[in-house]
Amino acid sequence: MIHLFYLACASAMIVGLKKLGHPRTARSGNRIAAAGVLGAIVAALVDTGILNWAIVIAGLVVGSVIGVVVALRIQMTSMPQLVSALNGLGGLASALVAAEVVTSTRLEAVTVDDGVNIVLSTLVGALAFTGSLIAFAKLQGIMPGRPILFPGQRAFNAIVALAIFGLAVWVVADGSTGAYWAMGSLALLLGILAVIPIGGADMPVVISLLNAFSGLAAAAAGFVVSNHALIIGGALVGSAGFILTIQMTEAMNRSLGNVLFSGFGAVTATADSGEQKPVNTADAVDVAITLAYADRILFVPGYGLAVAQAQHAVRDLANALEARGATVNYAIHPVAGRMPGHMNVLLAEADVPYEKLLDLEQADPQMPQTDAVLILGANDVVNPSARDDPGSPIYGMPIFNADHAKKAIVIKRSLSPGFAGIDNPLFYKENTLMYFADVKQALEEILAALEEV
Ligand code: NDP
Repeated sequence: MIHLFYLACASAMIVGLKKLGHPRTARSGNRIAAAGVLGAIVAALVDTGILNWAIVIAGLVVGSVIGVVVALRIQMTSMPQLVSALNGLGGLASALVAAEVVTSTRLEAVTVDDGVNIVLSTLVGALAFTGSLIAFAKLQGIMPGRPILFPGQRAFNAIVALAIFGLAVWVVADGSTGAYWAMGSLALLLGILAVIPIGGADMPVVISLLNAFSGLAAAAAGFVVSNHALIIGGALVGSAGFILTIQMTEAMNRSLGNVLFSGFGAVTATADSGEQKPVNTADAVDVAITLAYADRILFVPGYGLAVAQAQHAVRDLANALEARGATVNYAIHPVAGRMPGHMNVLLAEADVPYEKLLDLEQADPQMPQTDAVLILGANDVVNPSARDDPGSPIYGMPIFNADHAKKAIVIKRSLSPGFAGIDNPLFYKENTLMYFADVKQALEEILAALEEV
């Protein structure tokens, strides 16, 4: 019965994961997967007599209160940090499961298979824990987001990794408890060492990779305690995390090795090259007039839209333009914002119809026929240097060719660079209008001005 129940829970996780693939079904997918995980945890605790019902229910209440408070208080823009913190706890949990087995059994007596699983869940779990803490600290601004580099860093990290490998072999071959604790401690250190040289701009990719690691650690812990639901759940998290990592690096046209080892963002170029280049500035009335006479309009939302919480304002403006007969669509870049799907989730919250969200392949070919492209708190995802300048750090990253539209209107507060820290030649083009303002306020003012046109 218990195994059948675990199977049902694991199936719920798979169905939930599948449903996460589309915004329309994502919410129910999240609940189904969460129910599967919760069911498996409660079953494991009660079945093996680890805890009685009273303690399980007390734990549920405490955990739910913490979860609700955190989820309600967290800003959309801080979501990557939250994911990172939760990841880290997952890694720690797996490492602790293995450590508990080590303290309660004689390590020399375990089979080679069990030894390997104990080593894996400790190693990968510990690394995911400290690595996620550093990712959290970088994104939260507790420590500097720029890469922290020191001479001989790669060689030092390689020596630590080799030492861990040697200790791991010793643990499995000889059952040495001392080697086990030394290995765990070095894995904690390696998590820190591996993430500090990576810049804040690449943290979402790192978080996704560490997420995959925490899944692997959980699957290994599942083998240690012979729990099928944990093995399946861990494997799902591990593979989903790896796929997401690969998709993110592909969307930025970079290799995983480049993200992890290049120290990207160490020397931050500034937008200010010394000379002041002229830009065409505009105000709400100018933009309203341009939009009023446009038939085909594309909105390109970016990180600034999320910061300004302008998703409802953008929907209101789109409604007004459509009421006047224009066609309005949203061009969603895969890395717009600070995490995968950031823009989709934000616009879904404002009830923007999914059919209006176009991806790169759908939206970009429409640029030349587009009368006005409105760039809303976005920067890197419309930077033509990615296409034209082989020396640019983002060279090769696919972009929306907003400079090919009949008119590009950029709404942001200043000429400051985006996340990649580089200047954007689009701002200085002849057919670009720059409207310097907070994007939410700007959208409201454009809407008001439109009513007068
Ligand atoms: P960018 O970071 O390039 O640009 C955002 C712009 O928004 C800034 O230049 C800023 O300019 C502006 N802004 C900020 N606040 C406001 C506001 N209140 N009102 C108006 N404008 C505002 O964002 P993009 O979305 O274009 O690009 C995403 C970047 O994140 C890429 O470099 C991508 O590689 C990176 N990234 C994304 C990941 C993902 O999964 N989505 C993962 C990893 C990296 P100003 O200060 O002048 O207002």
